Amino acid sequence: MDTETVILGGGISGIAANYFLGKDKAAIIYEQRDSMGGLCDNFSIGAFKFDTGIHLSFTSFKEVREVFDMTPYYTYSPEPMNYYKGLWLKQPIQNNLFPLTPEEKVKAVKDYIYKPVQADDFENYKCWLYSKYGKYITEHFFLPYTEKYWCERAENMETSWIGNRLYLPEIDEVLYGAMSSATPNRYYAQEMRYPKEGGYKAFLKPMLSKVNINLNKRAVKLDSSHKLVEFEDGSKVYYENLISSLPLPALIKIMKDVPSAVKEASENLSATSLILISIGLNVPQDESKSIWFYIYDKDFLPARAYYPGLKSKSNIPSHQSSLQFEIYYSRSKPLSMRKEALAEHLIRVIEKLKLANRKDVLFVDIKNIPYANVIFDKKLYFNRNLVRQYLNNLGIQSIGRFGEWDYLWSDQSFMSGKKAAEKLLNM
Ligand SMILES: Cc1cc2nc3c(=O)[nH]c(=O)nc-3n(C[C@H](O)[C@H](O)[C@H](O)COP(=O)(O)OP(=O)(O)OC[C@H]3O[C@@H](n4cnc5c(N)ncnc54)[C@H](O)[C@@H]3O)c2cc1C
Repeated sequence: MDTETVILGGGISGIAANYFLGKDKAAIIYEQRDSMGGLCDNFSIGAFKFDTGIHLSFTSFKEVREVFDMTPYYTYSPEPMNYYKGLWLKQPIQNNLFPLTPEEKVKAVKDYIYKPVQADDFENYKCWLYSKYGKYITEHFFLPYTEKYWCERAENMETSWIGNRLYLPEIDEVLYGAMSSATPNRYYAQEMRYPKEGGYKAFLKPMLSKVNINLNKRAVKLDSSHKLVEFEDGSKVYYENLISSLPLPALIKIMKDVPSAVKEASENLSATSLILISIGLNVPQDESKSIWFYIYDKDFLPARAYYPGLKSKSNIPSHQSSLQFEIYYSRSKPLSMRKEALAEHLIRVIEKLKLANRKDVLFVDIKNIPYANVIFDKKLYFNRNLVRQYLNNLGIQSIGRFGEWDYLWSDQSFMSGKKAAEKLLNM
């Protein structure tokens, strides 16, 4: 079979690529799963609906808003919380030290004032943290969280991913937040949006009816010299143009005759994987909670959690509620726990954090998501460039979070797919 344009992967980037190609180029998406959406997909357990991790939209891209805004949505002010040794601190921590003891506050503020001064070419993320927040805040909050979320030591990470993600307060803000809980919101986005019905994936719905997709098609071989893709079920497709949103290491693995330097570079790209733990609770949703929160204590495995029912009531049955936790692991920080032990750990976490009681737990669902975040280790750029250049030379457009191998939000992944479509249309 021949298709003018083959798109590998039916996440938001692949969907956007197909959507913007429109009818001008015959294009088909091939997705390995039995459902569209990739990381933007969701799943149901009885009347409970869960996304794949937190997922709220704060896009400012006009093109993304034009599609997302077709779906009725709620808006929220982002006010996440941080759990630390029995205390709940507002976000960002550095502006909201109020709940700490006076002794801790003195140390944190003093270290903030006397933080080491450094020029702007930071050797690594650890140096960046010490020079921006000082020793106390870095060591009690950022370093433990880095190991939980990035599964990497801060000294092994570079800093270009930070952008506006981490707030840099003035000293007045740090002092004020240490003395008062009435601090202004300093989150990097001012408004979060979420579909009223259908989970995060509903934002993709206007595109879904306009794209061609073949589900249950796992690409297992790519012969770029004959422009041929083979799938696990034995079927094949010849293409004129290829757009791939597969993770770079996964794509290189299925390709023929890859030079050893490129193969090695792809194998050295590191990413975190995600254990997603979704819990149904037989208690009504507490409306006073914040939608999501971060957990700093090393004894508790999850890095983050959120309440699906606070994003939309349509995610939970009436009089019941749910929570979803994220635990990250990687090649260099493996997690070897049986499902039963993980479920038990999570029940203890929700009891310790006083979120619910064991008797309220209706179910604990555990899923493994192989690719969650790319890890910004210091060799990332070298390895990524080598692989992407190789694909580029073969005329393969590699898109999305794991095709670009970058820390892309869903709107940026959308734009990545759109850009690939436009490139083809302009050829
Ligand atoms: C926990 C978490 C929370 C997030 N929260 C937010 C948020 O709040 N807001 C936001 O904007 N963004 C968020 N993101 C980012 C967002 O999910 C991604 O940017 C986006 O979904 C990536 O889309 P993609 O198409 O690039 O990749 P993916 O969604 O990973 O799509 C790739 C697709 O390729 C398929 N595939 C893989 N291998 C094969 C194969 N061999 N053959 C065929 N198909 C294959 C996969 O099944 C998948 O469907 C979050 C991400 C994570 C992990």
